[in-house]
Amino acid sequence: MSEQSPRFRQVLDQFAGYKPGKAPVAAASRTFKLSSNESPYGPLPSVQAVLADAAAQIHLYPDNTAAALTTAIADRFGVPAGHVALGCGSVGIAQQLLEAVGEPGAEVMYAWRSFEAYPYLTQLANAEAVEVPLTDHAHDLAAMAAAITDRTRLIFVCNPNNPTGTVVRQAELEAFLDAVPGDCLVVLDEAYVQYIRDPQVPDGIALYRDRQNVAVLRTFSKAYGLAGLRAGFLIGHEPVAEAVRKTMLPFTVNSLAQVAAVASLAAEDELMERVDLVVKERDRVRSELLAQGWTVPPTEANFVWLPLGDRSAEFAGACDQAGLSIRPYPPDGVRVTIAGPEANDAFLSTARSYPHRQ
Ligand SMILES: *Cc1c(COP(=O)(O)O)cnc(C)c1O
Repeated sequence: MSEQSPRFRQVLDQFAGYKPGKAPVAAASRTFKLSSNESPYGPLPSVQAVLADAAAQIHLYPDNTAAALTTAIADRFGVPAGHVALGCGSVGIAQQLLEAVGEPGAEVMYAWRSFEAYPYLTQLANAEAVEVPLTDHAHDLAAMAAAITDRTRLIFVCNPNNPTGTVVRQAELEAFLDAVPGDCLVVLDEAYVQYIRDPQVPDGIALYRDRQNVAVLRTFSKAYGLAGLRAGFLIGHEPVAEAVRKTMLPFTVNSLAQVAAVASLAAEDELMERVDLVVKERDRVRSELLAQGWTVPPTEANFVWLPLGDRSAEFAGACDQAGLSIRPYPPDGVRVTIAGPEANDAFLSTARSYPHRQ
C-alpha cells in the first residue's frame, strides 16, 4: 500500500474553504440565526405553489438556458435578454467571472474587509488578490483607483458593503468608473440593493448601460427570500454575459430555483413590503445600539456592523450563550443580521447587558 496521498494545488493549504454562518446553539430556550443575512420570512404561498408543481418534474434536467427566468429578469429591469447571465447564487457568478479572468499574473481587486468569498474565489481562480483597506468602514475608491495596474482584470465593488453595511454614492462611484481602464471589468455586487434608502446611492443597472466594462450582480437569496434555492444573476454587456455563460457548470440553476425566481419577480410588491419591515427594524436596532453607547456605522443593508476589534469573538460568544448566532470576523468586528422584532429585541437586550461597550 502506498504511503502517498493524492496531491492537490498548494493554494488549498492556505485556507479552510468558505465558512457559512453558524446555526444558533440549541441550549438556549429561544434561538435566532442572525449570521447569514437571510430573510426572516418563510416563502410566499405563491412561491410554494409553483415549487410543489415543479417538484413533480425533477426527474428532468432543468432548462440550461433558463429561458423563462432570463426573460422575466430582462423584462423586469428593462435590459436585453442577452445581457442577463445566471448562476448558482451570485457567489456562483462571482466564481464564473473569476474563472473567466483568472490566470497567473492577473490581479483581482476588492476592498477589505468585504465579502469573504472574494479572497477565497480569487485564489482558487489562480489570480492575485489586491486588497485595499476600507476607510471609516467604507470603500476608499480613490485608493482603489490608485492601486489599478495594467494587470488588474476585475474589481469588485460591494454596494452596500458586506459586512459593514456602508455605501458608495453616485458621484464618487461615477468618478471611480471613469478612472478604470476599459479592459478591466468592474463588478458592482448589489446583493442588498433592495434595502437601500439613501437616495444618493446609484442603481448599478443605470450605471452599466453605457459602460462596456461594468456589470451588476444581483441575487434571489436575500430580499427575495430564496437563499436555499441558489439563484443569482448578472446584468452586463454581451461579452461579459457571454463569458459568464461559458464558465457556467451545465444545469447550474436547478429547475426549482428557476420557477421560484420567476414567481418571486411576479410577487415583488409583496416581497418589498417585507423589505420595508426589515428596513424599519434596521433603523430601530441601530438607533437603540447608538443609544446604548455602541459604535455602529450607518448601514443600508439588512445587517449592522459592530467594529469590536479584538473583542469580536468574545461578544459573539456572549450572543451564543443567549441563543443568538451572529457573525464574528475577528480581529475586525461582528455582523448582526436584522430579523423580526422578537429576534432583534433579544439581540438588543444581550447587547445592553454586555459589559464592555465600545
Ligand atoms: C449574500 C451575498 C451574495 C450572494 O449570495 P448568493 O446566495 O450566492 O446569491 C453575494 N454578494 C454578497 C456581498 C453577499 O452578501
